[in-house]
Amino acid sequence: MTTIVAGHLVTMDPERPVAEAMAVVAGRIAAVGSLAEVRAAYPEAAVERPDAGAVLPGLIDAHLHLARAALKFEHDAGGAEPDVPGFLEIMARDWHGEEWDVPRSPAERADALRRVQPLLHGLGITGVVDPAVTEPELRGYQESWRRGELTVRVTAMPYPGLGTPRAPTVEDAIGRLSGLGLHTGFGDDVLRIGGVKVYFDGEGLKSEALLDAPWPSTGSPGRQLLADEDFAEFARFCIEYGWSMGVHAVGGGAVAKVVDLLARAAGERSLRDGRFQIIHGYLDVAPATIARAAELGLVASAQPSITWFNGARLAEELGARTDTINPLRSWLDAGARVALGSDGPFFPFDPWQLMWTAVTRRVDRRDDPLGPTEAITVAEALAGYTRSAADAAFAGADRGVLRAGRLADWIAVDRDPTALPADDLRSVRVLRTEVGGRTVFRES
Ligand SMILES: [Zn+2]
Repeated sequence: MTTIVAGHLVTMDPERPVAEAMAVVAGRIAAVGSLAEVRAAYPEAAVERPDAGAVLPGLIDAHLHLARAALKFEHDAGGAEPDVPGFLEIMARDWHGEEWDVPRSPAERADALRRVQPLLHGLGITGVVDPAVTEPELRGYQESWRRGELTVRVTAMPYPGLGTPRAPTVEDAIGRLSGLGLHTGFGDDVLRIGGVKVYFDGEGLKSEALLDAPWPSTGSPGRQLLADEDFAEFARFCIEYGWSMGVHAVGGGAVAKVVDLLARAAGERSLRDGRFQIIHGYLDVAPATIARAAELGLVASAQPSITWFNGARLAEELGARTDTINPLRSWLDAGARVALGSDGPFFPFDPWQLMWTAVTRRVDRRDDPLGPTEAITVAEALAGYTRSAADAAFAGADRGVLRAGRLADWIAVDRDPTALPADDLRSVRVLRTEVGGRTVFRES
């Protein structure tokens, strides 16, 4: 069946940023253009006009722990069926000492995923990169996939636990990873294997991110979780065996080391196609490090939510060093690929609130914007949640823009975000969400 979706299409396609209509055939976009053009190409098709301010590509959160959000939601919501605001409220609650995180069968995990996905669609999310997936979580995703219930497209990043009791040595981590018998890119449009998750340094708010200069409160530069040689050895294995990597590196010291070690592990080989990610990379990262990461083709996977949540407290300790917190302007100006996400549900993950944070540099518990020189535009923020997030999710050829040949993942919103005052961005409402031409959310 062919449908024509007509309205104000903000395509996120640089070649045709705005259009009047698109034809959807068998879950994919078959044509984009003026209404007259698309009608002429598909004269038999029914024309649908979503009553909306704009139609956009579905949003992709490049860093959302969906499998864990599903279990937490099930634990906390019990039998209730909250709406989207209720969902956000539940996710923002205390994590109760992780009592939600108990062993579950693949079927139980798939059941939990079924309940939580419509709520993400209510925020406009049609895809996620789940950035640290254990073997049981991967089995839960597969069960959901097998049932045909995965309506959020998932790129799952296996987490072998290098440097933790699960895999204390590089040999252990390689063993776990090899045992999967997979590598990055395997899967389909619904469930795909992403890069391997590795943690290189500690967290910002615990003063454990590895910086170039010491944290004033501890006198220490932070914590490095893996020895240089171990990281390098693991990186060489990954590059050799077709695994991409997503490396948690928060502080500038950690990012500089990871960039250098990856470059050395790659040698003559390019890392660009592998979409190796620097995850977080938000605290006191030197311009030279950013330039080198961009040159290597690394992806900066950034979360404005962390700035929103941690910014004020970090500024109290680090002062002017937080002016470049979450340096989105610098990453983009250096030519890096920037994918936006939330680190939800551990951090707020309403994409409209996050894009607003990236554009306004406003943070919680502080009156002034934090480091306004690192602000980006609304169009850049949207690209971070669509085109660039799709690229980081190994789906750049299939998603992220409304263009002929792409999957018909789209959302209708009440106002055109690109035509709003920046401050109104966080109040944009999603009216309808489609994945592969199928309606998965409709505002009631
Ligand atoms: Zn995370």
